[in-house]
Amino acid sequence: MERFDTMLEAAELAATLCGSWSFATSNDRYDVKGLLVLAETSDSEDPIDENDFYVVSPSGAIGICEDGGDIFWLFFSEKALDEDLPLTYQVNPQINFCPKCGTPTVPDARFCTQCGTDLFAI
Ligand SMILES: [Zn+2]
Repeated sequence: MERFDTMLEAAELAATLCGSWSFATSNDRYDVKGLLVLAETSDSEDPIDENDFYVVSPSGAIGICEDGGDIFWLFFSEKALDEDLPLTYQVNPQINFCPKCGTPTVPDARFCTQCGTDLFAI
């Protein structure tokens, strides 16, 4: 996942992946316009700490990563509400061999080409 210093940058990417979001801690829903407006307001009124950053999931969910470790997901993509979102941010995990079957892995591939093990879940 890419990292973003502002919510607006994260929201702009998310807007290319999904069209509506639900907020994590309320029943509020956002469309693209609403999300971008909120992101802009948040960036100007409540900027995040230097060590924090935003992340965007493959389906367009937006999270904030605090202290470069734990991810708190703010917006869930309504396209994939049951998405299996990671709770921590891993900096380009480099796994050279599948831990299950020992096959050399393709760089940045999520699954082992031989046995299908989810390499990001390790
Ligand atoms: Zn394998």
